[in-house]
Amino acid sequence: MSADQPTVLVVEDEPAQREVLAYNLEAEGFRVSKAENGEEALLLVDEDAPDLIVLDWMLPSVSGIEVCRRLKSRAETRGVPVIMLSARSEEVDRVRGLETGADDYVVKPYSVVELMARVRSQLRRTRPATVGQRLEFADIVLDAETHKVFRDEKPLKLGPTEFRLLSTFMEKPGRVWSREQLLDRVWGRDIYVDTRTVDVHIGRLRKALCQHGGDDPVRTVRGAGYALG
Ligand code: CA
Repeated sequence: MSADQPTVLVVEDEPAQREVLAYNLEAEGFRVSKAENGEEALLLVDEDAPDLIVLDWMLPSVSGIEVCRRLKSRAETRGVPVIMLSARSEEVDRVRGLETGADDYVVKPYSVVELMARVRSQLRRTRPATVGQRLEFADIVLDAETHKVFRDEKPLKLGPTEFRLLSTFMEKPGRVWSREQLLDRVWGRDIYVDTRTVDVHIGRLRKALCQHGGDDPVRTVRGAGYALG
């Protein structure tokens, strides 16, 4: 499994529902982590923020609403999209759900197809390269569906790690990534890799991007890391 697959945290206290959700998300190609209550969800997010959270409203002790409110009140977790699940469909619930900062809201019983569409739609906004989007930056085009990269319309040869690095950069051009952030995003937390490895692959990416000429678009930010553009 590659590290650039989006991770989805499922928070649901009912085991059968939790497993069905996890099963369907895994079938869609997502990496899934599971929490059975709000406290566990908050701990997991602290350890390793997922790319998206599917959060049940009705949870014992800390409710889904409270979990969402806490996540959205902290700068480090505010950007993680939250899709709230609820058995209650009244309009008032919908409004309360959105007031907590939830990014989307799905009423139970939900259709799996619809829920997956909502998940992809949130990720299209936050992790475009992971849902098969075509990304462009200056004369560079990355097609996440076919895994092809072009510069000035010429195809580029790129290793798998360089491809993941580039797609990370192209999701947020101009953003400065520290070596540690790139390790988490491109290699994944489970694998021990030295930060120097990042420099080696950045070097390879630069070479690959300039294989038909053109300026080096990767910027080294002293003491901070790397950015595209
Ligand atoms: Ca529940």
